[in-house]
Amino acid sequence: MLVAEVMLQQTQVARVLPAYVAWVARWPSAQALAAASRAEVLRAWAGLGYNRRAVALHEAARAIAAAGTFPDQVEALQRLPGVGPYTARAVACFAFGTPVMPVDTNVGRVLARHIFGHESARVLGRRPFLQAADGWLRSAAEPREAALAVMDLGALVCRPTPHCDLCPVSAHCRWQAAGCPPEPNRARSEPPFERTVRYARGRLLALLRERGRVTAEEASLTLPPWHRPRASAYLDALVRDGLAEPDGSGWRLPELTEG
Ligand code: SF4
Repeated sequence: MLVAEVMLQQTQVARVLPAYVAWVARWPSAQALAAASRAEVLRAWAGLGYNRRAVALHEAARAIAAAGTFPDQVEALQRLPGVGPYTARAVACFAFGTPVMPVDTNVGRVLARHIFGHESARVLGRRPFLQAADGWLRSAAEPREAALAVMDLGALVCRPTPHCDLCPVSAHCRWQAAGCPPEPNRARSEPPFERTVRYARGRLLALLRERGRVTAEEASLTLPPWHRPRASAYLDALVRDGLAEPDGSGWRLPELTEG
């Protein structure tokens, strides 16, 4: 469950599915993952992106193996490396049946409209929003099923342009009752992906996976011109994140093997 949630944090289901199946077949427990080397873990993560998640998952497995038990409360789950509020809530809810709502964009939209009468959750404070969401889930006979139902509602019916005519809870929706008032748009311009640091880091890690070791010149040549002056800095950042190691005049994949 934790592996799936971490993989799904920033990667689409279609790409996660085969990687997840192979991952749990290879490492069916936290103890098994904890015993793997960092290089094995990074290689198994290939294609999923946001590689720091692999390091964090590995560290989380080591923490769980050291503790000898899998945490089942949101606060304890959030103390694991790489586990944020959403993942902690998703694991507590779906793995352990705790009435805590994992709030992603879709769920936030449904609850903002249905409970608070706003088009989206953007204008709502996080704490009161989560308290209301959890209270709503506690009133459900099956919190796990109720959370899944809200997710499905947000994905299929309560879309950014909602299909209120198909909605099973429209009779109690405050936003619909108010005439679906719009909220002001906040236009945001984002740089092209190839201009982002994430893109450069992904390219460099792919090169490390392919060759095992790279020099500063090789790293520079694999990047587009605007990233080249910072190639060494990007690799040093990968080292700080546990994704690479210095190796003489170059860098290599880490070969940690200690448990
Ligand atoms: S009635 Fe419309 S806005 Fe309200 S929850 Fe259903 S789909 Fe969303």
